[in-house]
Amino acid sequence: MKTSAEIRKDFLDFFASKGHTVVPSSPLVPGNDPTLLFTNAGMVQFKDVFLGAEKRSYKRAASSQRCVRAGGKHNDLDQVGYTARHHTFFEMLGNFSFGDYFKKDAIAYAWELLTGVWQLPKDKLLVTIYHTDDEAFDIWHRDIGLPADRIIRIGDNKGGPYASDNFWQMADTGPCGPCTEIFYDHGAHIAGGPPGSPDEDGDRFIEIWNNVFMQFDRQPDGSLLPLPAPCVDTGMGLERVSAVLQHVHSNYEIDLFQHLIKHAAALTATQDLDNKSLRVIADHVRACSFLIVDGVLPSNEGRGYVLRRIIRRAVRHFWKLNTLQADGQFWRMVQPLVEMMGGAYPELKSKQPFVEQALKAEEAAFSTTLDAGMTRLETALAASGGKLDGEQLFQLHDTYGCPPDLITDILREKDAALSEGATAQYESLMEQQRDRARAASKFAGSVGLPAELVASLHATEFLGYETLEKDGCRIVA
Ligand code: ATP
Ligand code: MG
Ligand code: MG
Ligand code: MG
Repeated sequence: MKTSAEIRKDFLDFFASKGHTVVPSSPLVPGNDPTLLFTNAGMVQFKDVFLGAEKRSYKRAASSQRCVRAGGKHNDLDQVGYTARHHTFFEMLGNFSFGDYFKKDAIAYAWELLTGVWQLPKDKLLVTIYHTDDEAFDIWHRDIGLPADRIIRIGDNKGGPYASDNFWQMADTGPCGPCTEIFYDHGAHIAGGPPGSPDEDGDRFIEIWNNVFMQFDRQPDGSLLPLPAPCVDTGMGLERVSAVLQHVHSNYEIDLFQHLIKHAAALTATQDLDNKSLRVIADHVRACSFLIVDGVLPSNEGRGYVLRRIIRRAVRHFWKLNTLQADGQFWRMVQPLVEMMGGAYPELKSKQPFVEQALKAEEAAFSTTLDAGMTRLETALAASGGKLDGEQLFQLHDTYGCPPDLITDILREKDAALSEGATAQYESLMEQQRDRARAASKFAGSVGLPAELVASLHATEFLGYETLEKDGCRIVA
């Protein structure tokens, strides 16, 4: 059986043999793209090439791109632990054509790799196309020979985070276009309908590969400008295709995740390897470690706040398994991660001590209030009949360091909920708190803090940054 590392290599070798230049993964923090929180697809590092603003020495590329989908347009944080196929961090295998080949070759390559090189049974595969894309239909049906009833036409923006959508876009603006997606049928014993059906959210038919025909540049007003040349951008989840090739259903059953899960099980003395908390911990250690490798540190804003929230969710799962320890637990997951991924990502290995230290510090900070926060939550729920209001949500955040998304995830587990208007009330309390903080800093300014002190405060802030840079942990693409 192939390991996920071998599958990654197969993919890159296959496209290299088809004249593609293999390009390394770019960091999770997009180099110069303010419209994006994190790199969420393989095409991100090629955005300007698609737009025609940047030229490369090659017209075909392939990569295995590290991606995070935890915030912004593509946010799968709330899916983790609930589906067999979603992670916050995953690797996207992709082949790209910059004004070179288009639909016909892209589809033929995908089919050759899946059914030729990897020998997947053809009758387990089905595809979706953009509803008006007759050209894609003809290629699948006439050239490839796929029966018409396994080519499903899908529109766009059906609404809702789960609904299938065959018009792909990276963000609200930028390169986009119609796509064709390839699904694998894991079998009738698993719940879920084919794409486009009312129960498509089940995990029977799993999307493994999206082939996007990049044709437009979405403008801020929503209009579509044609790109200088039609391009191809594809993305296949390494973990999903590994599940198929390793004959397991869930991504969490593949070699890479099993290694992490077994380690988490040993740390927490958990017998049941299917325990959801183990899966979440295994998922989250990948996202957190790679975010730190790429220069993000826990904070209360922006990217750092996303990282903080993911770490705290993971720590809460250790708490749930009753195994929080004084010197932390989560950071101990970095070692097994390095064992599995340090070969493909040497930067993970070289920064291991730094990553461990950053996780340990955040875990230590949160551990001091978590237990009391959870008790507080139980009391609040008992008193209010399972409905949490905005004031309580604010207090759990402000006093106990439990971010609202952590709380709503716990409520979901407990079949409890926020009361109506809780989010708005929480937001307004947060706003008042920010106003107080602003007023306090104005006050400090008006009484005239000594200039040297202000300067030294700024210097400390700036030095913090410098130190990071010296450690080599702030990578700019
Ligand atoms: P889904 O509909 O299952 O959420 P998607 O349509 O949002 O997937 P794309 O944006 O088309 O996914 O990304 C290309 C490929 O990347 C997918 O076909 C899938 O194999 C993989 N992928 C996407 N999101 C995730 C995720 N959160 N975890 C693991 N793999 C993913
Ligand atoms: Mg998705
Ligand atoms: Mg999809
Ligand atoms: Mg897709």
